[in-house]
Amino acid sequence: MKELPVVVIGAGPIGLAAAANLVTRGIPVKVLEAGDAAGANIRDWGHVRLFSPWEFNVDPASRVLLAAAGWREPESGSYPTGNDLVEIYLAPLAATNELTSVIEYGVRVAAISRHGIDKVVSRDRELRPFQLTVVGRDGAVSRVQARAVIDASGTWRTPNPVNASGVPAEGEETLADRIAIAITRFQATFPENASPVLVVAGGVAANKAIRTALERTCAANDFRFLAPPHALCTDNAAMIAWAAAERILAGLDEPNAMDFAPRSRWPLDEISTPMVGSGRRGPKA
Ligand SMILES: Cc1cc2nc3c(=O)[nH]c(=O)nc-3n(C[C@H](O)[C@H](O)[C@H](O)COP(=O)(O)OP(=O)(O)OC[C@H]3O[C@@H](n4cnc5c(N)ncnc54)[C@H](O)[C@@H]3O)c2cc1C
Repeated sequence: MKELPVVVIGAGPIGLAAAANLVTRGIPVKVLEAGDAAGANIRDWGHVRLFSPWEFNVDPASRVLLAAAGWREPESGSYPTGNDLVEIYLAPLAATNELTSVIEYGVRVAAISRHGIDKVVSRDRELRPFQLTVVGRDGAVSRVQARAVIDASGTWRTPNPVNASGVPAEGEETLADRIAIAITRFQATFPENASPVLVVAGGVAANKAIRTALERTCAANDFRFLAPPHALCTDNAAMIAWAAAERILAGLDEPNAMDFAPRSRWPLDEISTPMVGSGRRGPKA
């Protein structure tokens, strides 16, 4: 198996760092990237500034490859945007002699299995190479064998569902085309929405500085700004109670809607284990 490459899925910061470290150790490597260029996911939020400064974002093995290609490292202590990270670091790294020849773009890994072994066989499984099923831009399917696989495909396109248990919350799949995941550019995502309304609630709406900044941004972008009165933003229970009162006044609730036993720290769905606090699960509810 040693002659086979280690396959790295994704040419984001982690995939490229893994490839740089493998190349440096003389281990054959192949990087399979779904996008057209390195850092494809980061480009989606390229306008946002990172929270970690340059020196934390540069991998040591990658720094060595880049330095040999005449790269000048950005000043430590300064903070790049996502676009800076791609243009100043990831693109030049992917273009180094060592990495450019091992990265293939426009190929999406659809499955990882063991070559010649189906799901139910466990005997000698570990002796077989990995087999990746790869789909090209034109939909053509090919197979790639690997001695090992490093999954650096990130979480940008495979985020956690809303439900804390890792499965979609009720209605989440039905409304999938109306839910923008993670950071997005609203007007680009929903161009048909002529008079958008930004609804802000909870602690965010209670924070005066954030609220004022959002109000200003909305005014500048022709968004209507909608937030509950300040007095109702401080406490989740008050907000939920107020929403319930409005529903009852509007005649929306069924007669027996109040016929249940309250539970402390009630989870968002009926089957999740409740949180006791600080992320701990327990029997409290
Ligand atoms: C707004 C924002 C700010 C952030 N700021 C910071 C920060 O300051 N510091 C920090 O450490 N982290 C920050 N992060 C997190 C940051 O995104 C990750 O640290 C970083 O991008 C992870 O790199 P990655 O290579 O694992 O994944 P990604 O950057 O997501 O790269 C994954 C790559 O894999 C490719 N890919 C995915 N699926 C497949 C597939 N099936 N087949 C082939 N290719 C595939 C994608 O096209 C992509 O190029 C921030 C994230 C966001 C959204």
